[in-house]
Amino acid sequence: MPLTLSCLVAGRPIESGGASLLVRSPWSGEVVGEVLQAGRAQANTAVVEACAFKATPTRFERHHILDRARQLLDGRKEFFARLIASEAGLCLRETQYEVGRACDVLRLAGLEALRDDGQIFSGDISQQGKSRKIFTLREPLSCAVAITPFNHPLNQVAHKIAPAIAAGTPVILKPSEKTPLTALSFASLLVEAGLPGPMLSVLLGPTSEIAEPLVQDPRVDLVSFTGSVAVGKRIASTAGYKRVVLELGGNDPLIVLDDADLDLAAHLAAEGSFRNSGQRCTAIKRILVHASVADSFTARLVEKAKAYRAGDPLDPETRVGTVIDEAAAIHLETVLKEAVAAGARVLLGGQRRGALMEPTVIAQVPRDCRMVVQESFGPLAPVITVQDLADALALANSTAYGLSAGVVTEHLGRAIEAVKGLRSGMVNINDVPGYRVENSPFGGIKDSGLGIKEGVIEAIKCFSTVKTFSLPW
Ligand code: NAP
Repeated sequence: MPLTLSCLVAGRPIESGGASLLVRSPWSGEVVGEVLQAGRAQANTAVVEACAFKATPTRFERHHILDRARQLLDGRKEFFARLIASEAGLCLRETQYEVGRACDVLRLAGLEALRDDGQIFSGDISQQGKSRKIFTLREPLSCAVAITPFNHPLNQVAHKIAPAIAAGTPVILKPSEKTPLTALSFASLLVEAGLPGPMLSVLLGPTSEIAEPLVQDPRVDLVSFTGSVAVGKRIASTAGYKRVVLELGGNDPLIVLDDADLDLAAHLAAEGSFRNSGQRCTAIKRILVHASVADSFTARLVEKAKAYRAGDPLDPETRVGTVIDEAAAIHLETVLKEAVAAGARVLLGGQRRGALMEPTVIAQVPRDCRMVVQESFGPLAPVITVQDLADALALANSTAYGLSAGVVTEHLGRAIEAVKGLRSGMVNINDVPGYRVENSPFGGIKDSGLGIKEGVIEAIKCFSTVKTFSLPW
């Protein structure tokens, strides 16, 4: 039974608006829902109501709302897992995991809501000093805009809204038009958990009527964006005088050194390349393997990769669902064909059916292929050989991106050298680039972001301002 949902303005579903948006399953093509979209006037109302809202819930109330939302989400985890699988094509194994992560985000944001991070400085610490004290406190913003991508339809949204609630900041969410049903269902759940209406609007509609006016609106204090480099850079150039947080694309390497545990390396390579249909900003997009262990590693990776059965996202046995749509799968097929024409060899997979791209292992991939120079957002595992750690670091750093990296080695000195030498926001030794917990600092540099971190704790800082005041006592 398809869902019928409406955009929310100040916590209320709109009754009339713009055109209706049909959402289809990337796997079956069936309509899974329909959304009544908003227009420019409703975007304006959302900003007005957010800015006018002054009854910020207490820390206890914010904690309570987030904790209640976590309980509601936990109670509806199968509904949300199936909804994400239906509209995004991600398999149930992934979407159940995603719901668990979103519960963690709510739990950790709820705990942070209780924590006061104010500081105290003594004024008499120098010859020029005085016997005063300086204090800091955090204040909410008037209005924040959050824009999210399709690849984690629930968790990306939770990572914006939960820290905003913890900070007491009203937020206007513009989710991806490819996955609006999850975002709207989650927003309704937050209102049900007691979130005051003006603290949350969720708007979809033409970019020129919703996203662009919101980004450029001088009443908006912050734009927090997660998505592609192209759109992120456009936002950076059009947002004007306001805070901008950008979490953009990635082209993360997994470096496998000659002292690596090759079974672990193959396991990490498969998990990092194929989980979430390869559609994670921190998915492994290049596997850089020391030439002396390349054959042995690649044979193990092919064996591991055979376990990633591709197919119907709602089948519990499926481990890789579709990518977001057929156009995305055709793009993957195209970059694969280009790599093969340049000398690469497909060892496993390589076939496309509609929006389904098979998990694919490719060896002898030339270093200048589009597949590895740009971000390829899908279940491709390209293996490239390197001569030593220095060569691996140079190659890892050679693209425009700098989100995260994984390094597989048993040697602490090389691990430290890699941590220091990689130009990226994060490095994981003996784990996938995407390893994190929901409250650890997360984010990239270069084209992957401006170095401003997210993760619940850092995001709360973004969604608030520090006020400094002093007292004579
Ligand atoms: P996208 O095309 O950039 O879209 C992201 C969001 O921006 C969508 O809500 C989109 O709305 C909106 N948008 C489009 N044009 C806009 C404009 N001119 N102004 C303001 N907003 C605009 O990204 P995507 O294809 O959904 O997501 C995949 C990308 O996200 C990948 O590059 C991935 O690496 C990146 N990502 C990064 C992180 C991170 O934390 N670094 C995490 C996840 C994903 P519509 O849907 O209406 O077009």
